[in-house]
Amino acid sequence: MSEIDLQDHVDLVIAEVARAEHSRDLDAIESAHKAKNSPVLAARRALGAVTDEEQRRELGRRIQGCSDAITAAIAARREELSAIEREASLASDALDLTEVLSSAGSFPSRRGHAHVVSKTRASLEDVFVAMGFTIKEGPEVETDWYNFEALNLPPGHPARDMYDTMYLDLGEAETVLMRTHTSPMQIHLLEEAVADQSLPLHVAIPGRCYRLDTPDARHLPVFHQVEGLVVDKGITFGDLAGVIETFTAAYFGPDIHSRLRPAYFPFTEPSAEFEITCTICRGEGCRTCSKTGWIELGGCGMIDPAVFDAVGIDATEWSGFAFGFGIDRCAQMRHSIADMRALIENDLRFSRQF
Ligand SMILES: [Zn+2]
Repeated sequence: MSEIDLQDHVDLVIAEVARAEHSRDLDAIESAHKAKNSPVLAARRALGAVTDEEQRRELGRRIQGCSDAITAAIAARREELSAIEREASLASDALDLTEVLSSAGSFPSRRGHAHVVSKTRASLEDVFVAMGFTIKEGPEVETDWYNFEALNLPPGHPARDMYDTMYLDLGEAETVLMRTHTSPMQIHLLEEAVADQSLPLHVAIPGRCYRLDTPDARHLPVFHQVEGLVVDKGITFGDLAGVIETFTAAYFGPDIHSRLRPAYFPFTEPSAEFEITCTICRGEGCRTCSKTGWIELGGCGMIDPAVFDAVGIDATEWSGFAFGFGIDRCAQMRHSIADMRALIENDLRFSRQF
């Protein structure tokens, strides 16, 4: 290859480099330039045939100049391309945080909100706080002592059959369990109050409870209760009835009332089930309330002296009452939710209604 042909070759390569739109195009040009059969290397090999030393040296310098020109052009274009490529990749990775997808977008923006059970729990807490109660929470894993025995339900007591209990296998059988009601907190709080000499007590305890139930329209294996506990001097059954009625009207509305029916719970004496005006028919009588106009909401009663004994409180000096009812049941009644399973199915069409 003559010197002139070599210069043409350099011009062609440099033009090709300028046209390259991707660094991988440059890689191809560069490897062709370095290949054994490239015109530059061929010219260098041909130098051996030049006998005049001065001429050979001069030619050598020019060939090197051509080679350097190609190398420099590739390096300069590579730098330009990598800057362009970096910018493109940044642009494609960028998140536009101000973007609002229109109705044509795949994710219409919609503000979420608390679940209806959480909202119900919060409103119930508000009602009890307004009535002078303090809100407390307690453990969901309990020992048999707190869940049953201290509540006047000794081992083998037939009333234990009312609770289908989930036990935890932590060694000794049937000693540790998922609490079946919020009532164990009565014992924890009474023990604390005895230790701190902090009676009287006016506390409401909301929380999760567990029973081996198959979910159906009115039962869930994991459900929420709120427990009320009042211990003071001179507390009577009338106080209990008054608190239940005040709560019922405050939460369900002034046209919803409560009534108490005799019942049995081992940890209260006397005990009652409390019912409220049916929220579906407002007392007229319908299928939900079996035409009675009333719906059962929870249980209550005066604290049994045996419970006071278990924690070391003098039942002749102090008296009190406790009540408990389902938060899920409250939500169901207030919002006329026909099937309780809807609360745990996470169907957004349901959740968005509340
Ligand atoms: Zn009814």
